[in-house]
Amino acid sequence: LSSSLQKALSKLRSKGKLTEEDVALAMREVRLALLAADVNVKVIKQFVDRVRERAVGVDVQNSLTPGQQVVKIVYEELTELMGGEQAKIKMAAKPPTVIMLVGLQGAGKTTTIAKLALSFKQHEHRPLLIAADVYRPAAIQQLEVLGTQIDVPVFQLGQSQLPKEIVRQGLRAAQAQGADIVLVDTAGRLHIDEDLMKELEDIQSLAEPDEVLLVVDAMTGQDAVHVAETFHQRLSLTGVILTKLDGDARGGAALTIRSATGCPIKYVGLGEKIEPLQPFHPDRMASRILGMGDVLSLIERAEQTVDMEKAREMEQKMRNASFTLDDFREMFQQVRNLGPLDQIMKMIPGMNKMKGLENVDLGDKRFLRMDAIITSMTKEERANPDVMNASRRRRVAMGSGTTVREVNQVLNQFEQTRQMMKKFSGIGKKMGRRNALS
Ligand code: GDP
Ligand code: MG
Repeated sequence: LSSSLQKALSKLRSKGKLTEEDVALAMREVRLALLAADVNVKVIKQFVDRVRERAVGVDVQNSLTPGQQVVKIVYEELTELMGGEQAKIKMAAKPPTVIMLVGLQGAGKTTTIAKLALSFKQHEHRPLLIAADVYRPAAIQQLEVLGTQIDVPVFQLGQSQLPKEIVRQGLRAAQAQGADIVLVDTAGRLHIDEDLMKELEDIQSLAEPDEVLLVVDAMTGQDAVHVAETFHQRLSLTGVILTKLDGDARGGAALTIRSATGCPIKYVGLGEKIEPLQPFHPDRMASRILGMGDVLSLIERAEQTVDMEKAREMEQKMRNASFTLDDFREMFQQVRNLGPLDQIMKMIPGMNKMKGLENVDLGDKRFLRMDAIITSMTKEERANPDVMNASRRRRVAMGSGTTVREVNQVLNQFEQTRQMMKKFSGIGKKMGRRNALS
């Protein structure tokens, strides 16, 4: 950690209102996080500018550092930006409801159609699928296989008819069969081209769909703006489905597309298996995009329970090696208020790799016994556990109604914690920038 950054970080500790400097420092982190999530650079700039404006001058909440406060604002803005509208599909007043899925080749249109159909079927609807991708030889068969798998009828006329004609006849078949939802599977291309757009427009003007949903692979990076804007200009999209979120993608495309088109993201695809489609949760997406994911939940929980001043005092004690058994007990009490220790540790960057945590048990019974053991010690013993020889240990075991073995365990845990905290403050330094937020 460079000393200038360190200085900046220590300044961040001061309370009061967020200064331009606080915000600028934290926003640098946020910008990097958004870049790593592959959010389009122009979108990042707009977003960062907007949040910067909003954040300067905001009061820093009691339990947060200024850096955390900024991240909290970013998170809220991000959630709001991607949220707002309902994930619901707009149903036609007079059935059938017609839904058309569009997107580049391989985005996941056909798979998503099957997932959507399954969701509708489970809600007592009677969907019909129309196979209007006549270019890829296997496309029709793929839809038929999926249809059979979920027991939903598929309308097709092979590859020889125009897509528009297939849709025309498919809609008639839907009426005849009493289908109340029609899902149109369209062709894609590797890149946007005029032929494709024209064909999709033709289908659209014929079918007058209630929904035109753009299917986008979550891996789509900087290009997502162009793809989304073009489809939106030509087809007036009503929503977006982001697929392949089961993979590594941080999903910056969600923010990019939402900013570029204003279209709501209605669902997300989470695997190749045909399962009902999952609704889009803006808050989860925001933390995924920020990639500080769980630091955010930690902020929220810490806000509710932990007294940050106390935590800082404790940290200081660790540094000065004046950490006592009383502090140990208090620390457990605080951590217990947060929830299961192993989960908390997982949320802190770097901590999930810490060894020795497996031995720390925070179960209620265990805690009460530990409490009894520590309170059975004299003040001197608690302040300086090194004096705990065998006879003192026996006395404490008797006094607390426990065994010498348990007394030993508590003392060992205390020692381990003391070591761990020493190590942790070392990691904290190495974590560098991350620390600005924690
Ligand atoms: P289309 O060309 O847009 O119709 O795309 P397909 O539906 O044929 O999907 C292309 C590939 O992506 C197939 O191998 C699918 O199994 C896969 N796929 C689709 N959706 C998802 C998803 O949500 N997660 C994952 N991991 N794979 C998906
Ligand atoms: Mg397809």
